[in-house]
Amino acid sequence: MITIKTLPDTQLSCILSSVLPHNKEHLLILGFIADNKLILLTGNLKQIAVPLDIFKPSGTCSPDFDKFELIDYGHTIQFGEYEASSDVVFKSCDHNLECPFCAFPATIDSRGEIYCSNSHESCVFQPRAKNLEEWNSICGLRSSEV
Ligand SMILES: [Zn+2]
Repeated sequence: MITIKTLPDTQLSCILSSVLPHNKEHLLILGFIADNKLILLTGNLKQIAVPLDIFKPSGTCSPDFDKFELIDYGHTIQFGEYEASSDVVFKSCDHNLECPFCAFPATIDSRGEIYCSNSHESCVFQPRAKNLEEWNSICGLRSSEV
């Protein structure tokens, strides 16, 4: 069964009635989980989908996908105790990041570090970068080798 979650009414109406396009573009107003993906709608009614495996456990806290909520005026995605900034989603789908060595989707953690989500056994290089710029240079190195 699919449960669609939205922001609380007051937050939702605040975003939808905002005249600032930037506000709407970078806020999440609705979402649900289907086929191991998180499907989301932004304040400007654009649909985006990201694989659930971009949400990696941080410290002792693992995402509980049965407890999905959108909070904080669409700035935060909550899975039980686990919280991720909506930026994680936008970074992941804007750039459609994938490992240049094994083509697995790349993951961005809560500190903004980007790394290959593949297991160590099947991706020998396990690239990791502190930011998008560094990640792109790793990808660039790879493509100039070929
Ligand atoms: Zn890889």
